[in-house]
Amino acid sequence: MQGLFLLSPWKPILVILPFIGWAWVVSTIYDKDAARWYFKRQAWNTGHMVAAAAAVAAVVLAPNFLIGWPVMVLILAGDLMVYAVLRNKDDRVPEHHKWSFSLADLKARAEARKAAKQQKHVELGLRGPGGVAPVPAKDSPEYEVRVLAERILIDAMEGRAVRFELRPVDQQNYGVIYMIDGVGQAGPTMPKDQAVKVITLLKAAAGMDVKDVRRKQVADLAVERAGGRHVLRLTTSGTAGGMALRGQFEPEEQVKRSLDELGLTDDQLAEARAIIDDRRGVVLIAAGPFEGRTSTLYAVLRSHDAYTTNVQTVELEPVGMIEGVRHNKFDPLEEGAEYATTVRSILRRDPDVLAIAELPDQATAVETTRADLERTRIYVGLNAEGALAAVQTFVKAVGDPRAAGQALHGVTAQKLIRLLCPNCKVEYQPTPEMLKKLGVKPGAVSALYRKGGQVLIRNKPDTCPMCQGTGYFGQAGVFEVFRLGSEERALIAGQDLVGLRSALQKRRLPTIQEAAIRKALEGITSVEEVVRITASSQPKKRPPSKPPAPAAAKQG
Ligand SMILES: [Zn+2]
Repeated sequence: MQGLFLLSPWKPILVILPFIGWAWVVSTIYDKDAARWYFKRQAWNTGHMVAAAAAVAAVVLAPNFLIGWPVMVLILAGDLMVYAVLRNKDDRVPEHHKWSFSLADLKARAEARKAAKQQKHVELGLRGPGGVAPVPAKDSPEYEVRVLAERILIDAMEGRAVRFELRPVDQQNYGVIYMIDGVGQAGPTMPKDQAVKVITLLKAAAGMDVKDVRRKQVADLAVERAGGRHVLRLTTSGTAGGMALRGQFEPEEQVKRSLDELGLTDDQLAEARAIIDDRRGVVLIAAGPFEGRTSTLYAVLRSHDAYTTNVQTVELEPVGMIEGVRHNKFDPLEEGAEYATTVRSILRRDPDVLAIAELPDQATAVETTRADLERTRIYVGLNAEGALAAVQTFVKAVGDPRAAGQALHGVTAQKLIRLLCPNCKVEYQPTPEMLKKLGVKPGAVSALYRKGGQVLIRNKPDTCPMCQGTGYFGQAGVFEVFRLGSEERALIAGQDLVGLRSALQKRRLPTIQEAAIRKALEGITSVEEVVRITASSQPKKRPPSKPPAPAAAKQG
């Protein structure tokens, strides 16, 4: 038997065939893939060569071909497996680019691709409280509306837009705005009647009252697509120009982060923890609209032990639920609803912690200063771009600097900054002038990064698949966090804002701008981005302009 094998012409073929297959995968698929995600290509290629040498050694050195050949095949297959498993685990590879090894998955993806190629094709499942919305008959005008609605949702999902808006741009037309990492990008425009049909279709699918085109309505819709399901929170309301729609994907995800995942510097994190442990007085949580205030408020609330302390909130629209926390929804349309009255009645029940998600009016501000602040912590969310501005806003709302000053025990303010895409960011040497502007000693930092947007695939520049060419991937908060002690309280009571500013400066905690610069020096954001967010205070330079503010306060 052994002799027969030795003479068999099949033996060399049996050895060479697996090698050809392996070499083809390594040199075409894997090498291109490694270049695309900026893996260490050379290290990988060395690894593949070591595996190949081991495979050859196995087949040559084994006493018996029947043992050596299977070992050789196992080594080659193992090499391919190791790469596939490790690349799937790498953070640089976005979720929808991960390789799947389940046949059902592969089939579903192939079908989804096929469906996507045939344009004007319904490919989503829209599931509301009443079940999956029926697909209109093909060739009907309703079918076209459905396809248009799906196009908006699919573009949002594929472009990593967490939020999008469909709203009037002029008398006759509507436009879609995709918010990608907090920056608006213009999507398609369409005639008003078409847009209204799209909004109506989505409202119906989400189980909203389609006849009511004025009142603000909020409902969740599950968007199902081959291989995935996304929760989409839809908000519709009437505006001066007509009905408008806002969609937010996975709203509860944005309030799931813990305190140490928000972007605070280490010293700010310690300061925030000290504020939380103090458990007395009013603490302001400030940010502009959509600058991450709700995430911070929820993270702070989650840092209180909801089992040993009574934690409650008052919110216009609770974004999520925190275990053990009582979320009180305030409905301004309810008969006789008064925010301040609601807050007062909750305070009467002696909660340990109360969060007012958004300061709605002066009466509520006054109410917070009248609480038993030696035994109660009240968090007040408000719209301000910095810690000092937040204090000023609160003092003005209370209308009595002494009362406001006595109540305050802390303040946080924040903005969101975009993080550079790790797959395509470009290193450069900062000039001494630039470092000076950033407040850094010359020579302290040798390299900074700016956005790329492109990668080289086989030596040809191509749009970065990770960020789709925007150069940024994800956002982080940049903060100001200050405890307010007796010295600061006295300064606020005496309306000495200049004194307050210098008292806070003495604490050597970063301002929003300094926190942003730190992130640029760490190489995770760009100097351009630091300038963009810190220059946005006045006037707002956030392209494109936001829709007219709805009657109810925005949450961020
Ligand atoms: Zn990129």
